[in-house]
Amino acid sequence: MSLIETIIRSDVREREAYHVPESGGYLKLDAMENPWPLPEVMQQQMGDRLSHVALNRYPIPNYMELKAKIREKLGVPPGYDVIVGNGSDELIAIVSTACARQDRRAKVLAPLPAFVMYAQSAQFAGMDFVGVPLKPDFSLDMEAMREAIRVHQPSILYLAYPNNPTGNLFDTEDMLALIEAMKDTGLVISDEAYQPFAQASMMPYLPRYPNLAVMRTVSKLGLAGVRLGYMSASQELLTEFDKVRPPYNVNVLTESAVTYALDHLEVFNEQAAMLRAEREMLSAALNALPGVQALPSSANFILVRLENADAVFEKLLARKVLIKNVGKMHPLLENCLRITIGTPEENRQFLESFRACVAQPV
Ligand SMILES: *Cc1c(COP(=O)(O)O)cnc(C)c1O
Repeated sequence: MSLIETIIRSDVREREAYHVPESGGYLKLDAMENPWPLPEVMQQQMGDRLSHVALNRYPIPNYMELKAKIREKLGVPPGYDVIVGNGSDELIAIVSTACARQDRRAKVLAPLPAFVMYAQSAQFAGMDFVGVPLKPDFSLDMEAMREAIRVHQPSILYLAYPNNPTGNLFDTEDMLALIEAMKDTGLVISDEAYQPFAQASMMPYLPRYPNLAVMRTVSKLGLAGVRLGYMSASQELLTEFDKVRPPYNVNVLTESAVTYALDHLEVFNEQAAMLRAEREMLSAALNALPGVQALPSSANFILVRLENADAVFEKLLARKVLIKNVGKMHPLLENCLRITIGTPEENRQFLESFRACVAQPV
């Protein structure tokens, strides 16, 4: 046996690395990034601020100032705190590590299709992942979800609100019924990465449900490169999760940049409002094309269903337009493409290319 075969887990060796496609020179609408850079005066102020950060010192691991700013600006209920992570990806990993008890194999439940990190993180931590298909209209299959909870007694249920890659918000009453059903046996995580575009949140329900956690990120809001996620839940839960968190997981530049950015939250909120308006415009324009169905979205992307999605995707690539082909992710997503909302000019360019590609015979 080689060194690799001896020391590396077989399930890791068998995996493919997370693939990020080459995007230089492309119209890049594949990753739910906010298309606008910081306004110039904010760039100057941010640069000045970051130049004074003490890079020689470790961060102060309680992140008091950053957390206070998050609580103040982002709708955390009074008396509730947050845990911070290097993106919400790290928070998912922290939760998995903390919950992966081995005396009985712990399980993670999520409706499918869902964000891929839920299953991956569960696997890496040594938990079993149970996926329950959504209904064809992408709503929760409540009967199947209740049955899965009864049979598997999952420690964690992830509900992305709105869901990625489908873009829809689940019904609030359905969400609350699942939180109830998990009450004393499992944690429900409302993953609100797209909250700025949905303007809906489970945050107000935290005081009512001790088994609810709300996870968010500043990535989709316009700071994807900075890497900061946060999660609010009861103090009892946060205390346990915090023991697993690497003490300096958020670096001092991220801490300073986000603290500054949240003092100018209105700038990002205005951009989110423009993206919501663009989403409605783009959605209507796509729906007007014969054979193209744009599904309702509460996020900064749109899922479209069309004939020959693979061929259209390849034709767009040839025109240097990069979107995401999600058709292979799940049977419910057959012939689906996911398009991130860009600037008005990017969306215009995209529509022009997309119209041409759809109209061309295969
Ligand atoms: C993008 C995304 C995240 C990850 O956000 P980061 O903070 O950038 O790690 C989490 N959940 C969902 C549903 C997402 O789409």
